[in-house]
Amino acid sequence: MQTYFWKLQNNEQDAEVMQKAAALIQAGEVVAFPTETVYGLGANGLNSEAVAKIFAAKGRPNDNPLILHIADVKDVEPLTTGLNENAKALMEAFWPGPLTLVVDKSEIVPDAVSAGLATVAVRFPANQYAQELIKACGCPVAAPSANISGRPSPTNAQDVWEDMQGKVAAVLDGGNCGIGLESTVVDTTEPVPVILRPGGITYEMLMEVLGEVDIDPALQGDAGYKPKAPGMKYRHYAPQSAMYLLEGEAAGKLAQFVADALEEGKRVGVLCSSATAEALRANENVLAKADAASKNLLLTPWGESLEELAANLFYLLRDFDRTMPDVILAEGVGENGIGLAVMNRMRKAAGYQIVSIIDGELRLKNGEIPAFMLK
Ligand code: AMP
Ligand code: MG
Repeated sequence: MQTYFWKLQNNEQDAEVMQKAAALIQAGEVVAFPTETVYGLGANGLNSEAVAKIFAAKGRPNDNPLILHIADVKDVEPLTTGLNENAKALMEAFWPGPLTLVVDKSEIVPDAVSAGLATVAVRFPANQYAQELIKACGCPVAAPSANISGRPSPTNAQDVWEDMQGKVAAVLDGGNCGIGLESTVVDTTEPVPVILRPGGITYEMLMEVLGEVDIDPALQGDAGYKPKAPGMKYRHYAPQSAMYLLEGEAAGKLAQFVADALEEGKRVGVLCSSATAEALRANENVLAKADAASKNLLLTPWGESLEELAANLFYLLRDFDRTMPDVILAEGVGENGIGLAVMNRMRKAAGYQIVSIIDGELRLKNGEIPAFMLK
């Protein structure tokens, strides 16, 4: 199928693009569009056939429900049998914004959207282009992230194009996504609301409004827990190269692991803060093994703040699929604020290959410690 690529410029011409994009969605087609979290793949959320095209374009398992996007707070009403006080308080505090609420679903929501669940996930995005598009469509827009299932979510239109060219009717280019991680998903149907997926609206922000919030225990990646957000059980965000996440004290071993992996002849990708990248560049052991000509060391610093890490993470993970190092070593961060969401995505990207030091001993979850870490 031919895929249109339409650039939004924040001027009068955008109105025409929006009309064309909305007409495609109204006709049952799929259009990718920017939001403040990541790019979404949008279709008429009340039309099962249109929704089926989203699953087909992504190769998404159909037991993984979609989020319905609205552009006015009152548009949630027809989608639900009722909102409780917690849901109302969260809407009041955080909509429009990167917060998805799971609520009891009404009959008009097709099973294709909710994957047969009795609940539906709803979000009112803050991105101006997303709002204009949804308004022009005049219907709730079902929209998962605009990547092939399992790949890191796209945070710019080129990354969408790479995955979706030929598979959807159009891609709208609205520049880079500000937050860079998918929305926080909160189940409001439980007596104490539960975070099913951490995101831009943090645990601390939710606590301030609700006083009490649980975190789905399955997010720790421990076997035996079934995640309540079906999508969280899938391998996700994963670059093709083997990735290890160094948490806590183990992050202090980064320079040594890099040097030893280089020594073994590996091409090493490193995901770390700018300060750590500077330190690695100045480290004598690393310097002795790094070879500019063969590009055996791929340092990809994400910046200094957790917000910069969130904004750059998916782009950098996707970049590793272009450069294809033999191994990726990622530096863990603290889990305060958006750090919780970042660490959730990094753990999944690493396939839960988490390196830590417990009682002075090096441990690896989910696999065998590679030889270069044992020197
Ligand atoms: P995506 O749109 O790809 O960012 O994924 C949406 C996330 O929300 C997935 O993890 C889904 O499993 C989750 N989700 C959507 N609807 C529901 C629901 N009714 N109950 C629980 N989780 C949901
Ligand atoms: Mg997704």
